[in-house]
Amino acid sequence: MRLLLIEDDLMLGEALQDALTPHNYVVDWVKDGESALKALRRERFEILVLDIGLPGIDGIEVLRIMRREHFEQPVLLLTARDTSTDKVKGLDAGADDYLLKPFDLDELLARLRALSRRAAGRATPTIHHGKLHINPESQKVTYDEQNIILARREYMLLIKLLENTGRVLSREQLEQSLYGWTDDVESNALEVHIHHLRKKIPMELIRTVRGVGYTINKWKENEA
Ligand code: CA
Repeated sequence: MRLLLIEDDLMLGEALQDALTPHNYVVDWVKDGESALKALRRERFEILVLDIGLPGIDGIEVLRIMRREHFEQPVLLLTARDTSTDKVKGLDAGADDYLLKPFDLDELLARLRALSRRAAGRATPTIHHGKLHINPESQKVTYDEQNIILARREYMLLIKLLENTGRVLSREQLEQSLYGWTDDVESNALEVHIHHLRKKIPMELIRTVRGVGYTINKWKENEA
């Protein structure tokens, strides 16, 4: 999942980038509000972690502008001050949740999971598709109760498709979700991941829509 981190504190920014990456977030990091808006207008991010206290345009203003421009990604605000004004202003400006600094990493991860769950329209914490089960907290994938070991990008790709069942996702949409600014991407990388997923999961799952992209059909009981 592609995450835009907007944080001017270098130590915290680096720590967050290091901590989120192993949890299947592709983290791109900017250090001020102007750069955040530029990044949003240029590329498709799926979730934002936004510090309120930024040089130049502050986090609240970034939120107001992005919501006005119809960017609807979930936003988790980081605030250094324990004043309800910031929280209220932030929520009213379009934030979905907030965390007070200093915060616990596990709590940040849990809040991000909750936000992406809601964004995907899912109430349950786990993802089910027939005999395929995924627990986003433990990142454990099973098919018919057998563990399936997926590489990082395979996992991210599977989640992206499962959270958009019934919709065809273009190659570009999938690549934007899987790779950040610092990643070197081979031109056939996506096809390779799809190929591996198809070998690892013993069911007809991912459908190629020629000339358009890839999709996973919505699950119907009679498909079992
Ligand atoms: Ca700050």
